[in-house]
Amino acid sequence: MTIDTADRPSRQPAAERPSFQVSFEFFPPKTDVMEERFWDSITKLAPLHPRFVSVTYGAGGSTRERTLRMVSSIKADTGVDAAAHLTCVGASKAEVDAVVRGYQEAGISRIVALRGDPAEGMGKPFTPHPEGYQNAADLVAGLNKLGDFDISVAAYPEKHPQSPDWAAEIDNLKRKLDAGATRAITQMFFDNDDYFRLVDRAQAAGITAPIVPGIQPIHSFKQISGFAARCGASIPGWLAERFEGLDEDPETHALVASAVAAEQVLELVDNGITEFHFFTLNRSNLVLALARLLGVRPD
Ligand code: FAD
Repeated sequence: MTIDTADRPSRQPAAERPSFQVSFEFFPPKTDVMEERFWDSITKLAPLHPRFVSVTYGAGGSTRERTLRMVSSIKADTGVDAAAHLTCVGASKAEVDAVVRGYQEAGISRIVALRGDPAEGMGKPFTPHPEGYQNAADLVAGLNKLGDFDISVAAYPEKHPQSPDWAAEIDNLKRKLDAGATRAITQMFFDNDDYFRLVDRAQAAGITAPIVPGIQPIHSFKQISGFAARCGASIPGWLAERFEGLDEDPETHALVASAVAAEQVLELVDNGITEFHFFTLNRSNLVLALARLLGVRPD
């Protein structure tokens, strides 16, 4: 049996392949040891010329200073564009606007604008601050009044857990983009069909902005399963089976993680996807390998 692979972009010679855009997400480190790993990973990933490196914002602004310090240093030390995440949970508009002015003063013009979750967790209903932005769409509109930002917003291949239905979900995504966001970045997902269905639904609703897949390499199946459960992303049975029994076997775990992520990314490439956002968890190895599969390499 011969399998014709000629029409698969992932198998084409570099010169004929589409060029890929990547971005990398980090979280602000808490300790000196974590900060060392953060910079080690940034140093390895910066030469890949990502569109931007983003740094998350802790619930309720708990990482406010650290997020600002990290995005400022990334931009100043590596020359790579940095994007600051920002949430509006538990803060007045004046407080959020003050954070935005801090980003502006540091030369940061890219923002990932989010609603955020209540301190008690996503299971609890979201109540906006009485003088705050009501949701992410309201925050995007507010940002546009404060300056000229490149704004990314969140999208959910499996629907946001608080969405009543798909119509409300897509309406909300459209509101965020219509308010002035440039692109949406998805929550982690492990079944590409969920992503393709989201893109179809968005296009049917007239959304033309890119919906960039958020790729979560599985450095630790146990840890990622916990994250997934907290943010409403599902772990398919076949994925759990692949990692079953590997908790005490880091070498095989790492090989399986790399195969799983490669399979996901290459299937997206073969379906025409050219932009990727990688959740790095401040580690570089798996992401470096995935970028190489895309032909994204240091100069
Ligand atoms: P929104 O888009 O405002 O709303 C979420 C859901 O609420 C909608 O899907 C919709 O179901 C419902 N909703 C909102 N407004 C309406 C309305 N008017 N009518 C009907 N339904 C409505 N969290 C952090 O704390 N810090 C981070 O740095 C961070 N980074 C993230 C990065 C990415 C790529 C993603 C995907 C998520 C990130 N999150 C982060 C998580 C995010 O804060 C949560 O998922 C949160 O629950 C929703 O935020 P949102 O911006 O999608 O909210």
